[in-house]
Amino acid sequence: MSEVTEQQCLPLSDGNRIPILGLGTSAPDQPDKGVTVKAVKTGIEIGYRHLDGAFMYGNEDEVGEAIRAKIADGTVKREDIFYTSKLWMTYLSPARVRAGLETTLKSLKLDYVDLYLMHWPMGLKPSEKELFPADASGKLLQDNVDICATWAAMESCKDAGLVRSIGVSNFNRSQLEMILKMPKLKYKPVCNQVECHPYLNQNKLLKYCKSKNIVLVGYSPLGKPQNPNLCDLSDPILLNDLELKKIGEKHHKTPAQIVLRYQVQRGVVVIPKSFNPERMKQNTEIFDFQLTDEEVKAIDGLNRNWRYIPMKQFVDHPKYPFHDEY
Ligand code: NDP
Repeated sequence: MSEVTEQQCLPLSDGNRIPILGLGTSAPDQPDKGVTVKAVKTGIEIGYRHLDGAFMYGNEDEVGEAIRAKIADGTVKREDIFYTSKLWMTYLSPARVRAGLETTLKSLKLDYVDLYLMHWPMGLKPSEKELFPADASGKLLQDNVDICATWAAMESCKDAGLVRSIGVSNFNRSQLEMILKMPKLKYKPVCNQVECHPYLNQNKLLKYCKSKNIVLVGYSPLGKPQNPNLCDLSDPILLNDLELKKIGEKHHKTPAQIVLRYQVQRGVVVIPKSFNPERMKQNTEIFDFQLTDEEVKAIDGLNRNWRYIPMKQFVDHPKYPFHDEY
């Protein structure tokens, strides 16, 4: 992949375009400074033009440093890069939205982000220091913010030119509908970024989003391969699935390439994270083959509505999105 071609982008409802393959940058297992800078620079050299980040990942300064370095050395121009950031839960109150975005821009040392998402519909009490503010007993300090008011504040950030497109993440259908039915809605969410892979194929949410011209961006598309520090080791391992291995053998592709191809073929944007140059490259090599209808059907059949990120610590939050079927 030398560059993102037109065919490898999807149109957004506001007239902008999103590259269908992006590089995830959440790397809680790699806290050492410099690791993200190196990985993102390598990613851009390999050909990634879409980078998925967030205030919450704690490394936007490094992502920004890498982007600026690759602009400075002439590899890319700012307009070639599509950078997504996300408004964290402690910034959902409307008065804090712009400050949340400005914190991100200051870390990145960039003038605008291409896409800004409400990271979760669930609010937490404002905090500058903590991502998960809690009381003395460890109970999370929830904040039941009106997500429509948060959305209106995000619309103002677009009008101010600080962000090109706005969207949401981890919203269920009724939460999307709340935004779409806002009496003074100015901009529709261009996308909903949710967990999506063959074990959680999100068929119903995808169909709904397509009907509203909302792009579905799939996170953890590889099923978050087990990292003993981060995952429950009893979770099913997506990339070990025999059906995926079998289909991969037919195409001379790895299970990772099969699950990524499956998504782009059904119009889902994918943002696999890898900081390993070989795997980063491997994950881009998904545009030179096609899955047959039977193979897509077989992969659809693997669905088991399995969430690797159920956010169980939030089940009693009034805006918890996963009580509904979709
Ligand atoms: P992924 O499904 O992308 O899996 C990432 C893991 O897979 C890493 O450990 C990586 O290791 C490994 N990996 C990458 N490529 C391959 C390959 N070809 N074969 C085998 N293993 C591979 O999970 P993430 O949870 O990281 O999701 C991707 C991105 O989505 C995040 O980085 C983030 O940007 C976004 N996200 C958004 C969320 C939200 O709430 N909106 C929630 C979670 C994620 P290595 O680096 O060593 O290659």
